[in-house]
Amino acid sequence: MNACIRSLLREDLRDFAGYRSARGDDAGEGRIWLNANESPWANTADADAQLRRYPSPQPAALRHALADLYGCEPQQLLAGRGSDEGIDLLLRALCHPGRDAVLVTSPTFGMYAVAARLHGARVVDVPLLDHDDDHDFDCDFAAVGDAAEAHGARLVFLCSPGNPTGRALPLDGILALAQRLRERALVAVDEAYIEFAQGPSAVASLDRHPNLAVLRTLSKAHALAAARIGCVIGAPGLIAALQRCQAPYPVPEPCARLARAALHADARATTTRRIQVIRSERERLRAGLQALPGVRRVYRSDANFLLVRFAHAQQAFDRLLAAGIVVRDLRRAPRLDDALRISVGAREDNDAVLAALGPMEVAA
Ligand SMILES: *Cc1c(COP(=O)(O)O)cnc(C)c1O
Repeated sequence: MNACIRSLLREDLRDFAGYRSARGDDAGEGRIWLNANESPWANTADADAQLRRYPSPQPAALRHALADLYGCEPQQLLAGRGSDEGIDLLLRALCHPGRDAVLVTSPTFGMYAVAARLHGARVVDVPLLDHDDDHDFDCDFAAVGDAAEAHGARLVFLCSPGNPTGRALPLDGILALAQRLRERALVAVDEAYIEFAQGPSAVASLDRHPNLAVLRTLSKAHALAAARIGCVIGAPGLIAALQRCQAPYPVPEPCARLARAALHADARATTTRRIQVIRSERERLRAGLQALPGVRRVYRSDANFLLVRFAHAQQAFDRLLAAGIVVRDLRRAPRLDDALRISVGAREDNDAVLAALGPMEVAA
């Protein structure tokens, strides 16, 4: 393992071998497999008789298909139960509970802090800068670097495009931060929504930055949220270390098969067309919302949702609910006490949102 990766791992886990599953046995071409206490018969409910055996810890065909999708080598990618599992694995492998810190930039995806709390890691927050004049939250990369160094953070979570801000971070800023924190901290870029953005993925920069990792998922643009397939992409040594911290059989066989089917050329072509529809609907919905009198601000978005500030957020939320439309209420989040997050739907869904919010009366 390269020295940089080794220095990033928790020192008490650097020589940890993990669980040795039966599927990992180097048994070659067995004819009769009696090493995993499986049933000799398929369950009668298992019509294709595909589920009797434990799955491979990292199904090779799925790993290859995902690597092809994301433009990396299979050994740079670890598949798991959504990117949520990737977040958890990074924490476990890199942060010593009760001592080490992770850094987040609020407002951001809540799972980073939840996973950190459960793991007993401290959370350092360097809030994104919100400018009143333009329409973006910005990451203060210099402040993130300073805070990571000052607190000895082992892991920095950047969300790009950001949830709930919607904006992609500049890749040059991400890479400069990784360069600065080399051998001190891993920079994890959560690209759950990057399919909806214009800019390049950080995956193409992994070879030059061993302390960079990227989280990707089939849950959003690929429409497979319930299949729970996501991955961590990074240096092969990091990926191998994360796998040693992972449950032995993390990818259920029916989910792996479905994901493989979703990555065939025809399914991918449909996904690509739908991403285009979401992008154009996003701009149409944004313009429509921005034109409504009760809307204070609609942030620009590189994702499949819009962050919207309202003069009367409760009234907007109630109106949408009365029309049967459920959106994400962000008002408990710091600095978002007038904000809702609205996913971009199909054309008729977005029309329903605009109709429900109609010209708003001035609240009495
Ligand atoms: C939805 C979301 C995820 C969750 O992805 P799963 O692969 O479904 O676990 C990860 N990160 C962000 C920022 C998200 O919004």
